[in-house]
Amino acid sequence: MAISYMLKRSARARAMRLSVFPDSRVIVTAPIFLGTGAVENFVERHTAWIHKHLRRTMSKSVIRIPRNDITRLKRNALALAQGRCMHFAKYYGFSYNRISIRAQKLRWGSCSSAGNLSFNYRIAVLPPQIADYVVVHELCHLAEMNHSGRFWTLVARAVPDHKRVRKELRNIIVSFS
Ligand SMILES: [Zn+2]
Repeated sequence: MAISYMLKRSARARAMRLSVFPDSRVIVTAPIFLGTGAVENFVERHTAWIHKHLRRTMSKSVIRIPRNDITRLKRNALALAQGRCMHFAKYYGFSYNRISIRAQKLRWGSCSSAGNLSFNYRIAVLPPQIADYVVVHELCHLAEMNHSGRFWTLVARAVPDHKRVRKELRNIIVSFS
């Protein structure tokens, strides 16, 4: 099957580069000096790779949020984090300091050595069970500041199927609509 792609010419590119995006766009970046034939050849040689990545991005579940909804989501995320942190801290017998909500791009949450927890506002749109896992993960860092076996044993007390939940979480992309 022929692959439809967008060709971008770059004065800085020294070699060809392939990118596959969550919305199934394929972009080929090529140096200006390369002829069309060479580009076509390159894409043809990477057909299997492109199809593999297209399949992978298509299996992701994308949650779309309107950009003007962020303020509301931040409020919801804070209420959710406060409620679930209180619930699970009681379960574990942990105490934490402060909860804050951040607009991080890559992280779902973090825990500082001072006992401050922060969460990505995107937890507000996660399925409840997955949001709970994010909360439990950061709470357990209060006791184990690492990802050791002891840490995961602790996580498993509240989320026994955390492996499956983590896999699901990795598959979720939250993007603006
Ligand atoms: Zn962690």
